[in-house]
Amino acid sequence: MPDTSRCTIVLFGNDLRVDDLPALDKACQRADAVIPLFVQDTARAGDWAPGGASLWWRHHALVALDDALQARGSRLILRNGDTLEHVQAIVDEHDCDAIHFTRRYEPWAVALQKDIHDTFASDTFTVKRCAGALLFEPEDVRTGSGDAYKVFTPMWRAMQELPPPREPLKAPDKVPAPERWPKSEALDDWGLLPTSPDWAGGLRETWTPGPEGAQARLTWFCKNALETYASDRDRPDKDGTSGLSPFLHSGNISPNRCWYDVLRYREDHPATENGAQAFLRELGWREFSHQLLTMAPGLPDQAFKSAYDAFPWDPKKGHLKAWQRGQTGFPIVDAGMRQLYETGWMHNRVRMIVASLLIKHLLIDWREGEAWFWDTLVDADLANNAAGWQWVAGSGADASPFFRIFNPMTQGAKFDPDGDYVRRWVPELAKMPTKHLNAPWEAPADVLRKAGVKLGETYPEPLVDHKSARNRALEAFEVVKAS
Ligand code: FAD
Repeated sequence: MPDTSRCTIVLFGNDLRVDDLPALDKACQRADAVIPLFVQDTARAGDWAPGGASLWWRHHALVALDDALQARGSRLILRNGDTLEHVQAIVDEHDCDAIHFTRRYEPWAVALQKDIHDTFASDTFTVKRCAGALLFEPEDVRTGSGDAYKVFTPMWRAMQELPPPREPLKAPDKVPAPERWPKSEALDDWGLLPTSPDWAGGLRETWTPGPEGAQARLTWFCKNALETYASDRDRPDKDGTSGLSPFLHSGNISPNRCWYDVLRYREDHPATENGAQAFLRELGWREFSHQLLTMAPGLPDQAFKSAYDAFPWDPKKGHLKAWQRGQTGFPIVDAGMRQLYETGWMHNRVRMIVASLLIKHLLIDWREGEAWFWDTLVDADLANNAAGWQWVAGSGADASPFFRIFNPMTQGAKFDPDGDYVRRWVPELAKMPTKHLNAPWEAPADVLRKAGVKLGETYPEPLVDHKSARNRALEAFEVVKAS
């Protein structure tokens, strides 16, 4: 393979940044000209094409990427349609002799990257697949017998015994431009932003997509939340986690940058030791999900443990919609679902509670919840989302056992002890005393009256009775056990 290139295409995907991007860095080192290209190839992704919230994020992240490239004497070329056709056209028109991209793990993207390799790689054309989305490639973290890990803790131990992850690379100062640019489509013509109705107001207030927003959030996290992260990460009433998930998903920041920035901050601030360890471990869960998706490409659609295929789902009319809209009558669940709808994000503890209610109390197939998250989360990620849902459903690798059924009332009282989270997202309960906040249906009539709550009118009655729903779920689980 020649170590110089006349013209290299850098094909972007979920790596929308210029900092610590090996695919771009290598291109800048060896090519006379670089053509940065993003192809929106929704047909390839099929059912797992990005949902509404992800497209909103994508629009802004593409603007930020173009700005970063312009500042380096380059620009981003946008094309819509079949990736192979667009790459072929640009290769022909601009006499390109190389293409670089960051390795992806979604099954459709794996197939696409293989097709690019099979179509273009030759003695005179270089196809370079670079690392950049994970700390370690799945094949580099293996059990003693050479298999992929199905349990997180030993995998995390093994990761710590490997040589440390690659140090992040600096963004190139300059990206060499071609003599003439290929035609680009206009981002605004893609219609990624919602217009009628414009539901993205809460997203705009919450997020600054792109690398600058990512770095600002990481710096904020180190200064303000890292020290207490180990204890506060389960508290949805606090801003106690990094909020980096959408940036990591779309590659606005690399996991290596997060890893090393946190380690360096810890060196100067020893009080953050526990928080830093807990945070790095969460990055480890992200690696684990990607390892699972690589091992089981059907993970988003099929139970990892096939015995769960027999689960007797029993959805009731209107329950899915009530869950989606935060109208279940269980305050912590409704708070989470409304936070999701408003901001495109939900706290991890609450993701587990809402998922448990959907699957176990309402007996609705976890794939329905996964699909709703896919459409509404700004961090919707095929590996993390599928692994998260299967963890709660009990059907995943290293999953929570099915019989562990979250009680939404005690979860609310434990993790939102003063009720601030519920009051923020379910304002119709704002005046309820904390004692009755998580189970308003048990509050005496005068308490409800004083708080201005009329059950069934201002706030719904619970969709199901917790105890009987729990028993029903355990009975349903018997079918799985028997199969
Ligand atoms: P932090 O606590 O600050 O963690 C740092 C980073 O570690 C996160 O940004 C994320 O990249 C990673 N991480 C943390 N927890 C997990 C986890 N359990 N599994 C994998 N990676 C993790 N995460 C997504 O990124 N996309 C999803 O689509 C997604 N869907 C989920 C669905 C369900 C049902 C559940 C239970 C969890 C899901 N998660 C998903 C995992 C987790 O809830 C989020 O990553 C986390 O809440 C993001 O907030 P944060 O960035 O503040 O996390």
